[in-house]
Amino acid sequence: MTQEIQFGETFDGQLLANAPKVRLSRRGIIMGLAAGSVFPFVSGCATNAATGDSQLLLFGDDQIANMAATAWTDMKAQTPQTSNSKLKGRVLNIWDRTIQGAVKQGHVSPNEQWDVAVFDTDDVNAFVMPGNRVGVYRGITELTENDDQISSVLGHETGHVVGKHAAERMSVTTAAQVGLMAGQIAVASSEELSKYGSAIGALGGAAVQFGVILPYSRKHELQADKLGVDYMHNAGYDVKQSVRLWELMSAQSQGQRPPEFMSTHPDPDRRAAELRNYINARGYALM
Ligand SMILES: [Zn+2]
Repeated sequence: MTQEIQFGETFDGQLLANAPKVRLSRRGIIMGLAAGSVFPFVSGCATNAATGDSQLLLFGDDQIANMAATAWTDMKAQTPQTSNSKLKGRVLNIWDRTIQGAVKQGHVSPNEQWDVAVFDTDDVNAFVMPGNRVGVYRGITELTENDDQISSVLGHETGHVVGKHAAERMSVTTAAQVGLMAGQIAVASSEELSKYGSAIGALGGAAVQFGVILPYSRKHELQADKLGVDYMHNAGYDVKQSVRLWELMSAQSQGQRPPEFMSTHPDPDRRAAELRNYINARGYALM
């Protein structure tokens, strides 16, 4: 048995169409688990200091960063990067300012190293891979109307890192797929998973997909949106532009959306609404 892993937590929440897939054997996964995280494997959960969430984390940050290294190298080898130095410089400047917002929040160490690439394709998206590897497509920079909106994209990607979303998604998938025993341990020890525990046992794969993996992904997107707004606010960007960007995203994806329950990502209109509520509740702005 092998598990196919696609790295890349995106801005729009959909899996990256052109991301290289990494195959891990069952043996590789179990060896990895045994080597790096025996205790979490048994206890199941860790509390995320930044978000306060209790998370199932079977893999450490370093482990998962190593796993994604090849995917990132392949991505950079296969996808052209922009030769527009003005665009690249602009994105990097917004990145520097936004990441300082995350540092100010106490969510990111100032010593953290990041690799930010601007790819020259029409994709209206951006992504982050484990190991602080951030990709921005020219397409999304063309949809955005100002630096504030680009900051909201970059803040969102930083939010995925701070939320440890890649590690959690991989852990939940692994727990569900490696075998019922691992699944049962996860179910027993994770508050979040226990809600879906009986469904996993009864229905297997489909229940895992629709009942666990997809709701997790949607929750991650909303959390990354909100963290991104915190970082924008700290960086002095106009947080209202994050809502405006989701309105633009909604308009350009009109008519090509699956029903939300079948999707990895929340509906764009819902994301705009949740962000608006969050911005009001935090007192960042009135909208
Ligand atoms: Zn995302």
